[in-house]
Amino acid sequence: MNILVINCGSSSLKYQLLDMAGGSVVATGVIERIGEELGSITQKSNPEKYPDAKSVEQRTIPNHEAAMRLMVDKLVGEEWGVIDSLRDIDAIGHRVVQGGESFSAPALVTESVVETIRANVPLAPLHEANLIGIEAALEMFHNTPNVVVFDTEFHQTIPQKAYMYPVPMELYTEFKVRKYGFHGTSHKFVTRAAAEHLGKPVDEVNLITVHLGNGCSMAAVKNGRCADTTMGLTPLAGLMMGTRCGDVDPAIHAFVAKHKQMSLAEVDAMLNKESGLFGICGMNDMRDIHAARDKGDERAQLAFEMFAYRVKTTIGAYLAVLGNADAIVFTAGIGENDAQVRALACEGLEELGIVLDPEKNGVRAAGVRAVNAEDSRVAVLIVPTNEELEIAQATRAIVKG
Ligand code: ADP
Repeated sequence: MNILVINCGSSSLKYQLLDMAGGSVVATGVIERIGEELGSITQKSNPEKYPDAKSVEQRTIPNHEAAMRLMVDKLVGEEWGVIDSLRDIDAIGHRVVQGGESFSAPALVTESVVETIRANVPLAPLHEANLIGIEAALEMFHNTPNVVVFDTEFHQTIPQKAYMYPVPMELYTEFKVRKYGFHGTSHKFVTRAAAEHLGKPVDEVNLITVHLGNGCSMAAVKNGRCADTTMGLTPLAGLMMGTRCGDVDPAIHAFVAKHKQMSLAEVDAMLNKESGLFGICGMNDMRDIHAARDKGDERAQLAFEMFAYRVKTTIGAYLAVLGNADAIVFTAGIGENDAQVRALACEGLEELGIVLDPEKNGVRAAGVRAVNAEDSRVAVLIVPTNEELEIAQATRAIVKG
């Protein structure tokens, strides 16, 4: 069974074709700078067999419909083609960022599902692109089932006392203003993988999952179900991120708007695109930050310490939510690769039962692995995330009924 996973962002389209029977990735691609003067498409065919080979083409890609057509041309075309025809695609799984309160599980796309997703667009206006991808796929792939998998769905088990904001109730009743949480497919994927590694049924594990990529979020997972998470109504809340501020005093908006004579939209853009690690030290890639720290850059050092501090304080908070944890699970670009961030985030937590093994933590390796000391009450795991595989598995499960 071949499943095509589609992830439409505001100016990009990522895709992955997976052969579920053979357990391999057939092709993976990214179309960038959609709507700009010059866009690009990059595809890796059989990436597991040829990890260094990629095809790149630059051209104008006016909109997401054009990007979808380009993706299809490349997947079946003579030049880069990996399949003979679109009929070789058995199902399509779409990543959808915001499912609101309407979806607590993946769903087969029907007219009413499309309308419900449309109704949720005001909650995440930038993600209208998701909907365009779905509609284009329905038009281009006749008779191929489409499934939607939501970033928010794993977090729908969060209890009301944790998802409500202490603001006037009508913001919730009229506009559905509440915590939704994002990165759900990643938190769900690593939860299952961690349970497997620990040899426990998933509905018996208590975990703190720590997704640290460009976007960063954590989740408290009680008996395999999400009990709390750091992102909120939008993915701006919670941890410090590459360019996003995470939690700040909400009065900062009004303060900055007044003193810098900025509109609310401009303040919003500043907190999303010019803050986080970048705001403190001018760099948003943790590898660059370490290189700068090594040269004595004090701002890079401060950014690194602030970043790890937020992870650490959230570990403490989520231990309180859970009562006890089987494991802290680090994932995504920084979580999987950055021993220094993991070490600083876990430093001084011995009394809470968390002790890293510095040697194991320092080793880079593939796959799920434990990096805690023998006498650590709580395991510390590194679990590589795979959101595309999670979406493909969910798609297969829905299609097979
Ligand atoms: P996204 O959220 O876009 O999916 P990723 O999960 O790929 O992002 O994570 C990107 C982040 O991972 C970047 O900030 C980058 O600095 C960081 N990263 C990748 N590799 C390493 C590494 N070896 N050491 C430290 N950080 C890394």
